[in-house]
Amino acid sequence: MSFETTGIIRVEDLRKLGLMPSEARMRKGPVVIVECVQRIPCDACVFACPFGAIVKENINDIPKVDFNKCIGCGACVLRCPGLAIFVVDLSVGNGKALVTVPYEMLPRPRVGLRAELLGRDGSSLGYSRIVKVVESKDKTYAVTVEVDEKLAMEVRGIRVMGDV
Ligand code: SF4
Ligand code: SF4
Repeated sequence: MSFETTGIIRVEDLRKLGLMPSEARMRKGPVVIVECVQRIPCDACVFACPFGAIVKENINDIPKVDFNKCIGCGACVLRCPGLAIFVVDLSVGNGKALVTVPYEMLPRPRVGLRAELLGRDGSSLGYSRIVKVVESKDKTYAVTVEVDEKLAMEVRGIRVMGDV
């Protein structure tokens, strides 16, 4: 079933729309995953990227990404009002990956805190610890967690647990 029916975006949907980087690019280092799959009048991501990696010819278009220009800095993660942008890094090794997700909830995220990993449908995919937090001036956070590599394209949210 399509995301229009389920409300859940799948990797195949991203691939069809040209929003999936190649595996080779993902293994080179952090890269953006823009999961914005419907035509909406928004272009905050275009202006957020200092490298011109995200383009919209028309404000209503689905974003196009030049994965070779993207350095995975995460600036666009903080600026997307739809919380639809993520960064994935498969260059970590040892079967691990880093995933950066947008977060606007309490408790405030902090490096070292435990986090429940949430999948595309909101279900639990296990637990990890927060390894990096970047905060924007309007209190959106870009939170990075280490996950098993096979979950890199599945973890799309976190629940911050605390110090336990
Ligand atoms: S992660 Fe950084 S370089 Fe990549 S598209 Fe976003 S703002 Fe641009
Ligand atoms: S800022 Fe977010 S919601 Fe707006 S066009 Fe870009 S990806 Fe889509």
